[in-house]
Amino acid sequence: MTSQFQFQLDSLFQRCHSLIHIKQLQAHLITTGKFHFHPSRTKLLELCAISPAADLSFAAQIFRRIQNPSTNDWNAVLRGLAMSPQPTQAISWYRSVSRSPQKVDALTCSFALKGCARALTFSEATQIHSQVLRFGFDADTLLVTTLLDVYAKTGDLDAAQKVFDEMPKRDIASWNAMISGLAQGSRPNEAIALFKRMKEEGWRPNDVTVLGALSACSQLGALKQGEIVHGYIVDEKLDMNVIVCNAVIDMYSKCGFVDKAYSVFQNMSCTKSLITWNTMIMAFAMNGDGYKALDLLDQMALDGVHPDAVSYLAALCACNHAGLVEEGVRLFDLMKGSVVKPNMKHYGSVVDLLGRAGRIKEAYDTINSMPMLPDVVLWQSLLGASKTYGNVEMAEMASRKLVEMGSNSCGDFVLLSNVYAARQRWHDVKRVREAMITKDVRKVPGFSYTEIDCKIHKFINGDQSHPNWKEIYAKMDEIKFRIKAYGYTAKTDLVLHDIGEEDKDNALNYHSEKLAVAYGLISTVNGTPIQVIKNLRICGDCHTVIKIISNIYNREIIVRDRARFHRFKGGVCSCRDYW
Ligand code: ZN
Ligand code: ZN
Repeated sequence: MTSQFQFQLDSLFQRCHSLIHIKQLQAHLITTGKFHFHPSRTKLLELCAISPAADLSFAAQIFRRIQNPSTNDWNAVLRGLAMSPQPTQAISWYRSVSRSPQKVDALTCSFALKGCARALTFSEATQIHSQVLRFGFDADTLLVTTLLDVYAKTGDLDAAQKVFDEMPKRDIASWNAMISGLAQGSRPNEAIALFKRMKEEGWRPNDVTVLGALSACSQLGALKQGEIVHGYIVDEKLDMNVIVCNAVIDMYSKCGFVDKAYSVFQNMSCTKSLITWNTMIMAFAMNGDGYKALDLLDQMALDGVHPDAVSYLAALCACNHAGLVEEGVRLFDLMKGSVVKPNMKHYGSVVDLLGRAGRIKEAYDTINSMPMLPDVVLWQSLLGASKTYGNVEMAEMASRKLVEMGSNSCGDFVLLSNVYAARQRWHDVKRVREAMITKDVRKVPGFSYTEIDCKIHKFINGDQSHPNWKEIYAKMDEIKFRIKAYGYTAKTDLVLHDIGEEDKDNALNYHSEKLAVAYGLISTVNGTPIQVIKNLRICGDCHTVIKIISNIYNREIIVRDRARFHRFKGGVCSCRDYW
């Protein structure tokens, strides 16, 4: 082909910004007899399949005109399909091409796997995996990393780990895929271990790697590990990336060190994004620093960053955790007049706020004033508030709504049964319990984590799997004895009738957060703060017991539950029993 013609073609390709241009280009290629000239035709297909002017059905039309499509032609359409809103089409396209194995190359498999990852189809990925082995592409690091990523994203971490372990050669992307796969797949311990191993093997983690490691530390509340990752970030100047800074702030805040989070926030060398502000407001919210969160919301606007729905939600949440009822209601009213309109979550937050303050009627009126249909969460808050304030009529009404909406949550039934129990309507209690059995309502298993000497220990209710369980239980017996002497009595009626989110009966003494605290007491020196992460909300009894422990053992105990932080010190909690 002459260079003159190539030049013409190149400029035509460059000007191709719409389907009309693509069609003109195709006509030009056909009239000049160059349609069967591979590189131009493939380029045309790529334009059709993956450029901003992409039109996949037109790409398929062009493809059908090709007598003997090359691997690149197949791949161009496959790549487009894998990125399209219907990624499953990529899988059927792959099946067609794999009927002629000589046409399949490593890229073909890689695009097909990307389609699997987006369509979340695990079985297809295993089939492609066996073909990768058969075709001998398993030395292709990029392809094998894609495979690993697909397994991780479709939730099969064991398969991902196996692929990773068997890789003949790894690159940084392989490590990153495995670390973030473990972190996102709720195996944070292993993610941290792999991050360490990566450094030991002489790799230099990049911004993607540290994001995975930070996410793992946040999940575990692993401050020591998080500090190590943060130190590395500073040394490698990865903190020039705002996304990394946001993750560091989030990590410190989730570990309960809001001051450290704020110091990172204040000393950032890159420009703060909307997410930076939102993360910091949420950090204050979770820590119960209501006014600081509200101040930051004001400051953010002064800084020229417009608050979005998330910023308002975080601020409302802050009012909620700090019991700032008037401020929360005012903020909500302000929001109704702003560009950001309240959504279900904002309504949920304000209903919760009013309900917990005992303003049940106002909470109910707010639900009724909503422009959208209230969801389960709103009725649950109203039910919770009705239980706290003993409003049987409202509780019955809210549970009726919940049953109509098909809610099958254990908590809802328990709350209603508690309302009846408080009024000593045992017949109704029995009725609710029977309904729970017929509806097969399951309890969520509670568990807690605690970090001791850079190692994470996990406890489940009534757990005897920890290597030191005998010592832990002995410590629990000692605690029981000492808190009794202090004046604590387990509320037996509570045990009988208020089962809360999890089973209380015999296991009440051995709730996971109590076991974690007991282990903290025996394995750290006097005066060391004990930090615990709980997957559910802390229950009333544990809250009372840990307050007393903080006093008689003179320890600061920090519990992060599903909703917020509780800092127990000298017999009181930072939540002021409002949670
Ligand atoms: Zn408990
Ligand atoms: Zn508390």
